[in-house]
Amino acid sequence: MVPVRPFEYPGSKAPLSCGPVSLASLAKKHGTPLYVYSADAIRYRFGLFQQAFAGQRHLICYAVKANSSLAILKLLAAEGAGFDIVSGGELERVLAVAPEAAGRVVFSGVGKTAPELDLALRSGILLFNVESEGELELLAERAAKLRKRARIALRVNPDVFAETHPYISTGLREHKFGIDIRRARAVYRRAAQDKWLEPAGISVHIGSQIRTADPFGAAADRVAKLVRDLRKDGLPIQYLDAGGGLGIEYHAAQPFHPEEKVQQYAAAVRAAVSELSDITLLLEPGRFLVAQAGALLARVLYVKKNGEKTFVITDAGMNDLIRPTLYQAHHEILPVEPPSSRRTITADVVGPVCESGDFFARDRVLAPLKPGDLVAILDAGAYGMSLASNYNTRGRAAEVLVEGKRARLIRRRETLADMLSTETP
Ligand SMILES: *Cc1c(COP(=O)(O)O)cnc(C)c1O
Repeated sequence: MVPVRPFEYPGSKAPLSCGPVSLASLAKKHGTPLYVYSADAIRYRFGLFQQAFAGQRHLICYAVKANSSLAILKLLAAEGAGFDIVSGGELERVLAVAPEAAGRVVFSGVGKTAPELDLALRSGILLFNVESEGELELLAERAAKLRKRARIALRVNPDVFAETHPYISTGLREHKFGIDIRRARAVYRRAAQDKWLEPAGISVHIGSQIRTADPFGAAADRVAKLVRDLRKDGLPIQYLDAGGGLGIEYHAAQPFHPEEKVQQYAAAVRAAVSELSDITLLLEPGRFLVAQAGALLARVLYVKKNGEKTFVITDAGMNDLIRPTLYQAHHEILPVEPPSSRRTITADVVGPVCESGDFFARDRVLAPLKPGDLVAILDAGAYGMSLASNYNTRGRAAEVLVEGKRARLIRRRETLADMLSTETP
């Protein structure tokens, strides 16, 4: 059985490691805060997705925004992944490491600009997931100007509710995303009349960190019905983009079987398209592929008491990993040295940033920690580094990719010079 996370204590007295690589040695060599990812774990999750959709035409388009580090994009491109991008910048990242993957790129996002559309048109991407009628007009204009035909899908808003944090729920009419599914047929008819637009697909994305298969099935059902209607209208719809959003379990105490999860997910989506001949499914997983492959290593700076409360202050902060404060997210935190007794403390694990929202855990039961100790904040591979900022003029962390026995620095630590280089006093 492949463990859910690649970070384990190899023996009862052995410090936490990523495969055969000791995290303490990585912290010593590269400093902290440090993101560490397992290439094998990412490949394994990608393989699970591939297997779950075997026998069905499909393309897995990794959602770049989950973790856009070049080495991870390169690794996934080599596995045959396509990419779901939400900006011209993300497209440039894909082109930088895998120009041959341009034809496997789908472009989502509610606010695409003319220069971004131009870049995507010139690059010959697979599909534009158009999110408004205004965007469709602009795309038609840019495509005509560049004399490049654009394959389009409308991202429809299916009005399906999925249980998740409100900030990452996107499939209801009240959200800014997509085009009302009831209007879609009329918008497609308009698109079909434009010689530079080629209606080729339909897309949907109902949100992120969704842990049950049902809402995915419900959304795919609604979209599959629209595919049938559009085909009746004479439009050769070839792609059904079912979006991303498959969640993980951040709590270690909760059972989680990624193999089963992806099977259930695939079964729900595949059932919706079982009667659509020749359809190619596009899937856009982000978090599911990379979250649990990554950890954020931090060093304890101070342990202090304020009244009844104990605070463990680390050198990583909310600028490195904002998920706990932005989404009230839970992240398991492990000491790198295995605990020597069963004694525990209850503490808030916080960063140095001047915000009370700068925390990784509140009232968490932990093995006792002291200054100098290393901790690993788990499941930080998705929406960690990609949301990092320079708040408090803190340079962004370095990143290491572990492949088998080898560990490689894939992003050096950001320096003060890097941070000041764009400014004029
Ligand atoms: C964010 C996003 C994804 C990926 O979501 P995950 O929850 O990371 O799988 C996929 N598609 C679109 C359009 C997105 O915005």
